[in-house]
Amino acid sequence: MKIQAAVTHAQGEAFSIEEVTLAGPKANEVLVKIVAAGVCHTDAVGRDLGVSPYPIVLGHEGSGVVEKVGENVTSLQAGDHVVMSFAHCGQCENCLTGHPTVCSAFNDLNFGGRMDDGTCRLHQGDTDIHTFFGQSSFGTHIVAHERNVVKVDKEVDLELLGPLGCGIQTGAGTVLNRLKPEFGTSIAIYGCGAVGLSAIMAAKIAGCQQIFAVDVHDSRLELALELGATHAFNGKQVDVVKEIQAASSGGTHYAVESTGVPPVVRQSLNALRPLG
Ligand SMILES: [Zn+2]
Ligand SMILES: [Zn+2]
Repeated sequence: MKIQAAVTHAQGEAFSIEEVTLAGPKANEVLVKIVAAGVCHTDAVGRDLGVSPYPIVLGHEGSGVVEKVGENVTSLQAGDHVVMSFAHCGQCENCLTGHPTVCSAFNDLNFGGRMDDGTCRLHQGDTDIHTFFGQSSFGTHIVAHERNVVKVDKEVDLELLGPLGCGIQTGAGTVLNRLKPEFGTSIAIYGCGAVGLSAIMAAKIAGCQQIFAVDVHDSRLELALELGATHAFNGKQVDVVKEIQAASSGGTHYAVESTGVPPVVRQSLNALRPLG
């Protein structure tokens, strides 16, 4: 079928909305009509840093409605509302023990540009257009493996759900599945984008008594306070480590660093208490 998609033809080039041919779903795959897609920092990395082959259709936080299922698909049917997440093999030791985020084939399946059978579903003439995260959600339709498509409640607005596939589960999962903070503990969240704000909401759910939000944009800090942060510090205006240490009796029990900016990583370590 013919679809419209945002194609990145070469490293660093702007997205170009073009007609692309999408092959139908093979066995264990589904065709999804995209309703919305989040834009994650990793899409910018895919466009600018050459982590995947070009030409490529990026996008890895898609939500939509299943239009057609391939052979052997058992968990989904046409009409289901779904969110797409990262691809994983489902067969390696890490996948089989419930840790698909560290699938041994993660890099190949998400950044290698091809589906798990080694072929592409997107083409322009004879040219293969590569796939990102097994979905390429910057298009009107996608084909993805059943494994990285998750059914969601039809009552919830699909336009809001795309970031569940990456940013929200990254932030909330870090707190709820990795750190598992005890009730009444303190936590500092560095960076209040989708990942950081999701970590703040998760920390509130987990019962953290002090939740410190750190960012350099006041508008984000206001939102952080609305979503559960108990303190908000603008890193451009105050000495964050000093403020957090003073307010938390010497440092926080936990920290989540979502910026990747080296001086902020250092702050996040320095504002932890011993054993934090
Ligand atoms: Zn992402
Ligand atoms: Zn695996």
